[in-house]
Amino acid sequence: MTRMHAGFTGVVQHEWPRPRGWAPPQRLDTLDVVTLPGVGATLAKRLRTFGIQSVRDLLFHAPRRYESAVDQVPIAKLGLAEGEVAIEGRIVSARARPLRGRRTLVTAIVRDESGGQVSASFFNQPWLVEKLVAGTSLRLRGKLGRYGFDVKSYDIGEARRTADYAPVYPASEQIPSTRLRELVRAALAEHGRSFPDPLPAELELPLRRDALAAIHFPVDDEQAEQARRRLALDELVTLQLIVARLRDTDAVAPSLAQPGELIGRYRGVLPFQLTAHQERAITEIDLDLAQTTPMQRLLQGDVGSGKTVVALYALLRAVESSRQGALMAPTETLAEQHFLTLEPLCAQLGVRCVLLTGSVGSKKIRDEIANGVAQIAVGTHALIQRDVEFADLAVAVVDEQHRFGVEQRTALAENRSTHVLHMTATPIPRTLALTIYGDLAVSEIAKPPANRKPIVTARVGAERSSEAYKRLRVHLDAGRQAYVVCPLIELSETRLARAAEAEAERLQRAELRGYRVGLLHGKLKTAERREVMRQFKAHELDVLVATTVIEVGVDVPNATIMIVQEADRFGLAQLHQLRGRVGRGGDQSYCLLISRPLAELTETAERRLQALVDTTDGFELAEIDLDLRREGQLLGTRQSGWSDLQFTKLRPDRDLIERAREIAGDLRGEDGPWQDEADRMSADADHRGLA
Ligand code: ADP
Ligand code: MG
Repeated sequence: MTRMHAGFTGVVQHEWPRPRGWAPPQRLDTLDVVTLPGVGATLAKRLRTFGIQSVRDLLFHAPRRYESAVDQVPIAKLGLAEGEVAIEGRIVSARARPLRGRRTLVTAIVRDESGGQVSASFFNQPWLVEKLVAGTSLRLRGKLGRYGFDVKSYDIGEARRTADYAPVYPASEQIPSTRLRELVRAALAEHGRSFPDPLPAELELPLRRDALAAIHFPVDDEQAEQARRRLALDELVTLQLIVARLRDTDAVAPSLAQPGELIGRYRGVLPFQLTAHQERAITEIDLDLAQTTPMQRLLQGDVGSGKTVVALYALLRAVESSRQGALMAPTETLAEQHFLTLEPLCAQLGVRCVLLTGSVGSKKIRDEIANGVAQIAVGTHALIQRDVEFADLAVAVVDEQHRFGVEQRTALAENRSTHVLHMTATPIPRTLALTIYGDLAVSEIAKPPANRKPIVTARVGAERSSEAYKRLRVHLDAGRQAYVVCPLIELSETRLARAAEAEAERLQRAELRGYRVGLLHGKLKTAERREVMRQFKAHELDVLVATTVIEVGVDVPNATIMIVQEADRFGLAQLHQLRGRVGRGGDQSYCLLISRPLAELTETAERRLQALVDTTDGFELAEIDLDLRREGQLLGTRQSGWSDLQFTKLRPDRDLIERAREIAGDLRGEDGPWQDEADRMSADADHRGLA
């Protein structure tokens, strides 16, 4: 009786298929991981170091790869097996017992058809004991260890054979991948079905919740790939929606008059003619600035192609119309670099240029920005923080925008009716740039200034490094300057700084005795760093020993040779950026890549170094890099700086990019889960960038 009524009132609705878009009672992005079984305060804190705070974060922590399948053996033969194997059988009995340090061990006696029997051990999953009912069939992957069969992954009472493709997560010493595996499994069991599906049902794609389960526990590689593509489509649609939102703003920016007297003087003080490509970019920018629709333009060009000159042009256009310009860089070092380049030029033109970063920037500077005395402000994201008010900001240049999150990239434009020029040196083929940025206009400086001679790059085995330094001294003796890049070690800035210090001292005593050696690393105080850069620019130093902080922005045309120590440790894109610090003037420049002896190099390291010797073309190198990274992730993951895209692989997913644009086009203006998604992605980007 009651059941019937219940059916009518929808209380037993779960017996019917749920419509897509069905929203769960609780929001997983605000549900803390501590609500999961077996997660206490300590573990929650450790998870946070991975950026995992909510249940949603955990479920979207994608595996790096999957374990490949192992042989299945009869339990009776287990003693003969080496390494990991799979077994299949039924539960005879199971129990849980506490271990030291609040850990638990669940043991289960498992018997298979061959009559063999083994005690299987599951660590830290006390809740499992309820599922391990006598008679239940299961499949386990693991190996014989101290506590019997040490289970690495499992399928209990399910037909799915996921144990073979156990996920391997980005992990740390404190939270090993296997622990993450347990946690994800628990989270999926508890919440995996309550994901709203933001894609319209008529697209006939796999459900998001199925994709989510399959990305963690696929039955084979193909299912994992399908799941990844479904999740990639989701994030691409979201990204397109965010881009669409920007276009939809009815913000109005000032329409700037034609270039006038100040621009004329600017062209006059430049020691060179602008190239045809620079001129074309400038014409495109001028057209944008004449409109009242805020400019959203991407200026891309390889390292050293001359983007900064164009950027300053755009900023001066604002100044010329009695408004302000701002240049935003992703790091303090880079902001300072830009300041050191722009400020002297501005001074020549009688334009007031100030620097504002997290650590530099007094109340006085803020005041100047607020009352308009400062005409151009250079800085980090500190510039867009709430307590910075511009008197009248008309043009903003955002450098190396791929290092910012989506929201940050656009914060200036969105709130402040500003024309925005995004600059990047990360070579992305034009078509890809267009698809990923939606309708963002693209200007490209495809060719460097004509006076350039391609940098000559050579590989030097470590055993011959003294010859490399000999070459370097020849340049110094001819009045040129040089860089020595220290090896990339660990991830800690502090260790890196210490190693660089030691290396600078060593070089000063040995290979570089008698020369003026300066040191640049990320741990220097701002004032110290600025002083070192000033000295190097003024040729008060001959050699700059540096960590990768010089990767972007440093611009000293008199520097004609660079030595990169242990070059095989660096990535291809990074080496290309580093190399771009030389070859900035008319003189022949050299880059010497010191590496371990050939025989000791991995094949990919070998090919990376050879690619640099073979070409200086950034686009070509980007393609090679894509090929060398098996997972094609150069443009596709958080690690590579494309912080907004976690699942997408740009090249193989080109079709998805197109599809996402169509879907987003249909969804525009619609309320619903997608708008939540877009909000969340924006907030994420914000959080990562500004925290
Ligand atoms: P990017 O920012 O694209 O890496 P920069 O703007 O820093 O490149 O320019 C690299 C170097 O080339 C700088 O020293 C700059 O002064 C110089 N440069 C820029 N444009 C020209 C040009 N048209 N002719 C000659 N040199 C140029
Ligand atoms: Mg530059």
